[in-house]
Amino acid sequence: MIIKERKIPLFVLKLEALLRRLPPGHSKIPLIKEELSKRNAGFKGESSIDFPLDFIGGKNYYIFHDIRLPVQSRFFQIDTLVLNTKFALILEVKNISGVLQFDTVYNQLIRIKSGEEQVFPCPLIQVKRQANQLKNWLSENKLPFDFPVFSLVVISNPRTGIKVIPPHINLSQKVVHRDTLPVKINQFEKDTTNEIPDKLLKKIIRLVLKQNIEGDLSILTRFHIHESELLKGVLCPKCGHLPITKVKRTWQCASCNNKNKNAHIAALTDYRLFMGPTITNQQLREFLNIESSLSATRLLKSLNLPHTGANKNRTYTLVFPNENTSQKGRH
Ligand SMILES: [Zn+2]
Repeated sequence: MIIKERKIPLFVLKLEALLRRLPPGHSKIPLIKEELSKRNAGFKGESSIDFPLDFIGGKNYYIFHDIRLPVQSRFFQIDTLVLNTKFALILEVKNISGVLQFDTVYNQLIRIKSGEEQVFPCPLIQVKRQANQLKNWLSENKLPFDFPVFSLVVISNPRTGIKVIPPHINLSQKVVHRDTLPVKINQFEKDTTNEIPDKLLKKIIRLVLKQNIEGDLSILTRFHIHESELLKGVLCPKCGHLPITKVKRTWQCASCNNKNKNAHIAALTDYRLFMGPTITNQQLREFLNIESSLSATRLLKSLNLPHTGANKNRTYTLVFPNENTSQKGRH
């Protein structure tokens, strides 16, 4: 049973927004594109284990995607957490093609593809750290810390080869191909005899959901980009032209003639991805390229946003229905 669904990561949405809002030829674009393609591959890999996870199904398993929990005043992240009354299982999904060599001597992961070698941090170390952090989290929350915490590195691409250095080390209990995941999970189930009461498991589930906080790193800080470098205005939802102009109560694109009454919502979603959830009338005018304060007020009223303060100091919180979807890009 899936308790927490996987969504498009907030950081991916921020990267996409940045690509929409940087002028063509901006020096950071290649770097941002590279980061986006890495994150998208990761997301695709994580999504690809949904199908094998279906096979463990039943009511006995509780699955959480993208968990970020506080422990010892820091946060730790887990791609996928599987809980039942017998154990917790951490899954770290790697979507890397080619041949993967797990170097257990130097604790690194080497990918060999088209004759080239690339080194990645060792995911075995990563899941071991996550398992320790989860145990610490259980103990900090006065939950059973003798509850076994297993972890697996899941290789999502069935054509990716797995090798180990030195070759006699057997990692089949720690690294699996996506499709063997259900078999492995059944094995953990068979090998574990102790069980915690169902009531206690429900308490753990409640606490995971309560304490989970999605990371909200500033994309502008991350790439050292100043707000003034961003392209302002409302984008055409049809052809991506920027900026489109406000004609009476609608937005009209000079490039494709498309008219859209709600095109400003996507622009404000971009604003929130860069600047955070609150906005003033002045900030809205600047970001949407609206000259008239009255027109901005009318627009803000139509959005029915929660707000605090009065008159010029009024601050609105940007919340919209149907969130977490990708928009059309410009690059
Ligand atoms: Zn257009």
